[in-house]
Amino acid sequence: MTTQIFDPHHLDLRRFAETASTLAGDWPAAGFERLAADAPPAGTGTVCWSAQGEQRAVKGAAAQTWLHLQAETTVTLICQRCLKPMVHAVHGDRSFHFVADEAEAERLDEESEDDVLAMPPRGRLDLRPLIEDELILALPIVPRHDVCPEPLPMPAEGPAAAPPPHPFEALAALKRKPN
Ligand SMILES: [Zn+2]
Repeated sequence: MTTQIFDPHHLDLRRFAETASTLAGDWPAAGFERLAADAPPAGTGTVCWSAQGEQRAVKGAAAQTWLHLQAETTVTLICQRCLKPMVHAVHGDRSFHFVADEAEAERLDEESEDDVLAMPPRGRLDLRPLIEDELILALPIVPRHDVCPEPLPMPAEGPAAAPPPHPFEALAALKRKPN
C-alpha cells in the first residue's frame, strides 16, 4: 500500500478516486469569506472537513469518479422568531460525481439526484470553494432557536402575562375546529 500526499487545494481528482484515498483537515472559518458574510464563525472558529475518493465501476462504460465531502463548523445566526443571535452547528455531507465536461454535467444533472460537476481544469480541484458551498447550502433557510432564550414581548403591553382566556371562549374555539 502506497501513501500518497494529496494537496487539498490542487487535488488530483482521478488519482484520489483511483486510490480510494482520504483527506481531512481543520481550517480557520474566518477564511471562508462568503460563509462568514452570512453566518459569522462561532465556537472554535474552525471548519473541520474530510474527503474520500471513490472510483465506481460501471458495466460497459468507463469507471466514474466520485468525491464524498463532509464539513462542519459552528456559526452565529439571527433567530427569526426573537431576532437574537443563536449559535448553530452546520453539517454538510454531499457526494459529487465528476464527469468529462460541462455539457455532460448539465445533461446528467437534470436526470439524476446526484450532484454532477465537470472535471476541473487539468483534473485539479480546490476543495475550499466546494466545502464553502456545501456549508452555505446546509444553513437553515429560516434559523430559529429550539426554545428562544427569553419570552417574546407581547405586541402592545410588553411581557406582562395576558389574562387567561374565558373557559367558554376556549370551548367555543375548540368546537369551531373541524375535528
Ligand atoms: Zn429565538
